[in-house]
Amino acid sequence: MHIHTLLISLLILSFGVQAKSVSEKYPAVNVDLNAVKVSKHVYFVQGKAGIATDNAGFISNAGFVVTNEGVVIFDALGTPSLAAKLYKEIRKVTKQPIRYVVMSHYHADHLYGLQVFKELGAKIIAPQGARVYLESNVSDNLLATRRIELAPWVNESTRLVPADQYIDTEYKFSLGGIHFKITPLGNAHSEGDLTLLVEPDNVLFSGDLIFEGRIPFVGQANIFNWLQALEAMRNVNVSAVLPGHGPLAKDPNALINLTYNYLSLLKNTMQAAVKNWTPFAEAYAKIDWGDYMFLPAFDAANRKNAYNVFLFLESESP
Ligand SMILES: [Zn+2]
Repeated sequence: MHIHTLLISLLILSFGVQAKSVSEKYPAVNVDLNAVKVSKHVYFVQGKAGIATDNAGFISNAGFVVTNEGVVIFDALGTPSLAAKLYKEIRKVTKQPIRYVVMSHYHADHLYGLQVFKELGAKIIAPQGARVYLESNVSDNLLATRRIELAPWVNESTRLVPADQYIDTEYKFSLGGIHFKITPLGNAHSEGDLTLLVEPDNVLFSGDLIFEGRIPFVGQANIFNWLQALEAMRNVNVSAVLPGHGPLAKDPNALINLTYNYLSLLKNTMQAAVKNWTPFAEAYAKIDWGDYMFLPAFDAANRKNAYNVFLFLESESP
């Protein structure tokens, strides 16, 4: 056999073994997870609108960018099994190695799949605030809970993977001639958020700054920074925005309004409550939730969201 042919056969063989071992390593998950081509290099998978334990944990979005020197993934989904399924989708499109995972932020529903890509040799890039999350008890406690709620897909082998590089100022890199721009936003939706622009395609991954089709998750958000980041996004001229939850859109303005209006309502009502020393329960009961109460995740998230904003504003008030 010619040495070249031999090398190629070995490569194909090792690639086949790797692809097989990834899907065999994690419990199978029966959800529809299909990559949709968005632009020349960008693909998108969309989770179902719901709370963290719905749809086997497939409730957040992810995407990937194919270059001729490797693949850049954006967000890692909510279980290793889902990430393995995402990897399968990538392998339908390209044999290029997984080179980077850019994390929008460290929240469980985007994070628990990360070990799959780390084990494949990817370099993990995350916003600086991800460190705060990893060092807090919240991340360990939530993992313990999710091992029960999302069994068997989140289990004893599921682990929190730290990033290889943390970003706190604008950061550009390129791979296979494709330019990427990462914009960190500090503490906005979470302790640390970032967006990723795929420059030649003019496609923006917004992460959880934008929720569509469900009530946003507020948690440890800084509501002022979050609203400000959304305002800035209104003016960006992109060919598509891929949100952290819900369908993609061509025009960011078409996507921003639900999150923006909802957060504004929380901010305004809770600000008034804090200012007037109104107890939370009393203030909450008076709010008209009419535009939101029939959206997915309302019952599970709304009161908690309002309370988190109330506590945040209380801690900020002089
Ligand atoms: Zn989130």
